[in-house]
Amino acid sequence: MKNKIMIYLDQEYPNESAQLLEIIEKAYNKNEMITYAAGWVEEKQVPCWFDHLLLLPPDERSRYDARWMASVLEQMCREHEFCCVIIPSTWTGRMLAPLLAVKLESGLTADITDIETLDDKLLMIRPAFSGKVMAKITSKDSQVIMMSARLGAFSYTGLQQKKMQTEPYLFQEPIRSGIRQLGREDKKQTADIREAEVLISGGGGVGRRFDQLYPLSKRLNAMVSASRKSVDSGMASRSIQVGQSGKIVSPQLYIALGIYGSMQHIEGLKDIPYIISVNINKNAPICSLSDIVVEGDAIEFVTKLLERIKKE
Ligand SMILES: Cc1cc2nc3c(=O)[nH]c(=O)nc-3n(C[C@H](O)[C@H](O)[C@H](O)COP(=O)(O)OP(=O)(O)OC[C@H]3O[C@@H](n4cnc5c(N)ncnc54)[C@H](O)[C@@H]3O)c2cc1C
Repeated sequence: MKNKIMIYLDQEYPNESAQLLEIIEKAYNKNEMITYAAGWVEEKQVPCWFDHLLLLPPDERSRYDARWMASVLEQMCREHEFCCVIIPSTWTGRMLAPLLAVKLESGLTADITDIETLDDKLLMIRPAFSGKVMAKITSKDSQVIMMSARLGAFSYTGLQQKKMQTEPYLFQEPIRSGIRQLGREDKKQTADIREAEVLISGGGGVGRRFDQLYPLSKRLNAMVSASRKSVDSGMASRSIQVGQSGKIVSPQLYIALGIYGSMQHIEGLKDIPYIISVNINKNAPICSLSDIVVEGDAIEFVTKLLERIKKE
């Protein structure tokens, strides 16, 4: 079928995955398309934006066995003959997408951050050559157009609620993938920087003094994030990295402390109304994007601001 499109919903991020519907809104005439959402999720987790919701029955293997998951989704794709399959670039999605693409003998454009159309062609856009160019990729011969997309790069407005038809998807048990689970430990739940209203972000200019950002973040009800420099130097965890190889964030206020503003970092900043940067070099690229630039030492700024807040 030329008009059936499926978005895979990652069970850890069902709502964010559903936002990828913006891709369909941007790239297709939505009235001509039949939209499917599918995943190992619960009905209540999925906004009523799709024509169909295919629910896969709960199964432990959906948490760790990407080969088994790809086999199940292959059956679904072949049965429904989707013309386009979109998978979120989550930890699971990044394993699942290439496995499914191989099974469907399709090309895969990974990690797209935008989409355009040109003369009826879909142009899937993603950073290339370390973010120096934005590549526009088109799928030439594949029967199915497959892409994985960065969460946070797309946000469906959800104005149109649909009468979504929900049904369980019954599949034939694929042959064993060879992966066995020996044990299980739940990961500790940590807050996600993508949900923060205010982000205090530390970079190379903060260096080993990174921990000094936390008291200020507590006072401002903010969260701490980092550039890759801080992550690579072991000062911050990868889960709080902003940028091309980290997360795309959209807080109301972004305070960039000792961050240069490389292209790869800026790629992680989306629709931020207010940016303050503190840098000893007022010509650093991040300063030209900022509403307020403070020229000086990042930690001196943090200390003085904290003192001021405590006084008031
Ligand atoms: C494929 C690829 C993916 C990448 N992905 C990411 C990504 O997701 N996120 C990311 O951030 N980077 C990413 N990078 C790395 C990126 O290119 C930069 O190297 C990185 O962003 C630099 O981090 P920074 O600005 O914190 O540090 P630096 O480049 O070291 O800049 C430090 C800044 O702090 C200022 N400064 C120095 N001392 C002080 C002080 N005492 N007080 C105040 N300011 C001071 C300096 O003037 C400078 O502007 C990626 C690179 C590649 C190749």
